[in-house]
Order: sequence, then C-alpha cells, then structure tokens
Amino acid sequence: LRIVKGDDKVRWYSTQKVRRGFCSICGSSLFFDPLDQHKNDWIGVALGAIHGATNTTLKIHIFVADKGDYYSIADGLPQNQQ
Ligand SMILES: [Zn+2]
Repeated sequence: LRIVKGDDKVRWYSTQKVRRGFCSICGSSLFFDPLDQHKNDWIGVALGAIHGATNTTLKIHIFVADKGDYYSIADGLPQNQQ
C-alpha cells in the first residue's frame, strides 16, 4: 500500500493479525491490512473513502452471519456466511 497524499493523517492500530488505518481527523475507517502477507496478498480499502466514481461493482457479500438483523441483502449476489 502506498498512500500518495495525506499519509500523515492516517493512524494505524494493530492486533496480532491485522493493522487498521483510520483518518486522524474524523475517525473514518480507511484500511484493513492483514499482516501475514504470505496468506493475504490484499489490503481492504473503504470505498467510502474514495472521492468520485469507484468504477467497481460488488461481487459477493461476506460475513453475512454477522450482519445486523435490521436489514436484508436482496441484490441476488452470493452470500458467504463468514
Ligand atoms: Zn477524515
């Protein structure tokens, strides 16, 4: 991950398995970065943090078993319980 602007505004908090990046100004969650790069060669980026069009679409819902009971997912996409 290379932040091209505003990296001084990101605060990182780590556990044994992951580090999470938050905006130090408003507290928004920005990044989810698994620390074991051998198992996980990806970094989660909060799409709400992107200005303008994301040019992406959803492919799957994950951790559906943990979603709030106050809404349903009815877009027809695959749903993984975990
Ligand atoms: Zn912010």
